Amino acid sequence: MSTSRSFSPGPNGAISGQGTVTDRLVEANQRYATDFVDPGMDARPVLKVAVVACMDARLDLHDALGLELGDCHTIRNAGGVVTDDVIRSLTISQRALGTQSVVLIHHTGCGLLTLTEDFRHELEDEVGQRPAWAVEAFRDVDQDVRQSMARVRTSPFLLHTDDVRGFVFDVKTGLLREIDAA
Ligand SMILES: [Zn+2]
Repeated sequence: MSTSRSFSPGPNGAISGQGTVTDRLVEANQRYATDFVDPGMDARPVLKVAVVACMDARLDLHDALGLELGDCHTIRNAGGVVTDDVIRSLTISQRALGTQSVVLIHHTGCGLLTLTEDFRHELEDEVGQRPAWAVEAFRDVDQDVRQSMARVRTSPFLLHTDDVRGFVFDVKTGLLREIDAA
C-alpha cells in the first residue's frame, strides 16, 4: 500500500486525525474481509510443518518461505526461543493437529543479542518483583539455534523429532543459512 511508508503513529498509537494504530488495523481488516473467500480448510496444516521463529518485524515468514494460507503453524516469540510455552504449542500442533516437521528460525540483528539476564534484575529493581521467566538472551545466534533444536529433539512430549532443522535468516539479504545440529 502506498501510504504505509508515511504512516507514523504518535506516542500512544494515535495518528493525527486518523485514530490509533489499532483503528488502522481494524479498517484494514474490513477491506480484507470484503474480498475474503472461505478456503474450506480444517485446522490441520497442509504441509504438516510447524515454524518457530522470532517475532522480529522484518521477518515475513510466509513470503520468505513461500508459504500459503493453511500451510503451517507459526509459533513466534522474542528470539524464536524454544520455551516451555513453545513446547506446549508444538505438542498440540503434533498430537492434535498432525504436524510432523519443525523448522526453527532465528535471525541476524536480533534484539536478544543486545540483552542479558541483567534485564530481569533491572525489572526487579524497578517493579519490586522478579519475573518467573528467563530472558533467554544470547551472544551467539548459531549456538542458540543449536540449543533450540536440542530442546525440541529431547522433548518427551513430541511425537516427531526426526525432522527438526534450524536456520538463521539474514535480514539484509533475505536468505536462510542452515545450522548444523552438532
Ligand atoms: Zn529477533
